[in-house]
Amino acid sequence: MKYLSSLSKKKLVNQTCLLRVDFNIENTDLHGYEHGLTRIPLRVERVLPTIKFLIDRGAKVIILSHRGRPKTQISADSQRKSALSQRRSAFTLKPFAKILSKLLKKPVQFIDFNFRKSDFLKLRNKIENFPPGSIFLLENLRFLPGEEKNDKKFAQQLALLGDFYVNDAFSVSHRAHASVVAITQFLPSYIGLALENELKKLNQVMKSPKKPLIIIIGGAKISDKIGVIKNFLKKANCILTGGGVANTFFAAQKLPVGQSLYEETMIPLARQLLKSKKIILPIDSVVGMGKGAILDIGPKTIKKYTNIIKSAATIVWNGPMGYIENKKFRKGTSETAKAIIKSRAFAVIGGGETTSIMSKVKGQKSKVFISTGGGAMLEYLAGKKLPGIEALKLSA
Ligand code: ADP
Ligand code: MG
Repeated sequence: MKYLSSLSKKKLVNQTCLLRVDFNIENTDLHGYEHGLTRIPLRVERVLPTIKFLIDRGAKVIILSHRGRPKTQISADSQRKSALSQRRSAFTLKPFAKILSKLLKKPVQFIDFNFRKSDFLKLRNKIENFPPGSIFLLENLRFLPGEEKNDKKFAQQLALLGDFYVNDAFSVSHRAHASVVAITQFLPSYIGLALENELKKLNQVMKSPKKPLIIIIGGAKISDKIGVIKNFLKKANCILTGGGVANTFFAAQKLPVGQSLYEETMIPLARQLLKSKKIILPIDSVVGMGKGAILDIGPKTIKKYTNIIKSAATIVWNGPMGYIENKKFRKGTSETAKAIIKSRAFAVIGGGETTSIMSKVKGQKSKVFISTGGGAMLEYLAGKKLPGIEALKLSA
């Protein structure tokens, strides 16, 4: 595997880098940041050092990303023009040019394409006229048909734009898409600075975690997390459960779960897993709304979990402990976050909802690593090979 961090200035000067990032950030989060209400989105913050590294060494950077799933949604609604343009605003990467420009204090050229006939060679010639250190941001790659199909021809076209490729988007590395996988066949390909660091942090908990190792798994679906649970069942000292995941375990024990969120089809597997004494279930719950749905872990569980977290040397956390969208059921999750921050443990935390709560809780977070990946982190921690990472290993 080749690392961007080990490339010298001599190798970078006057070269054009195709840099894959993940700016798949929703408008609500984007607008919050633009209006100064929230801090910089993590996925933007993480790639700034990589962009600086490249331009400081005289490379030109063409930033590649996707945003949302434009095709399905646009075609479903193509009748109504206003709806279409509103949707477009959820998919365009244009606002990120302005944001990057401000953060890097340099112009960032936004490159829109003619959706039908993108002439990559023409674009390459245009970019060649710009001085070293120039930065470009290409429009959402998913507007083009080849991206999600991992189309070789499309990747080859895209590759015409640059001299080498860098993947700095851990959170999309579980997707076999053209700008993540196929492109590595056409350009020398490197691991970016953020991806290098993210893999290092995840490998720390995978390969040689300091014990006690505590895994905390909550969230909506146990089927998303089963790989992680299985992979850590031997290595971990215990696995604390909450959310819909715990509800499925309750159902597997034939406990009444009423209208709670759980996965019926996963009950047999959950029953198997319960044979391990390492799986810890909540000892009390907060119930609400309608016919007795379990919506959060209760105060006794919070106390029990907090004590276990206190003893940990390493923690992995994915998935909220309850229905966090309602403040009344957020306590289990925010107390878990607080306990992790207070502990002496090195913690790796991932998942959209989980990290959003973590970012709201104050405290010293120097030993907490927030993964940019939701699905990618779960697959990696389940021991699966990620197509984007495997492609980098194979690239010339
Ligand atoms: P993440 O995004 O951190 O990976 P998930 O997507 O797996 O987490 O799960 C988050 C969702 O799970 C949230 O929308 C939350 O409301 C829901 N959830 C967790 N526990 C419960 C529960 N007991 N009842 C209903 N919803 C729950
Ligand atoms: Mg989620």
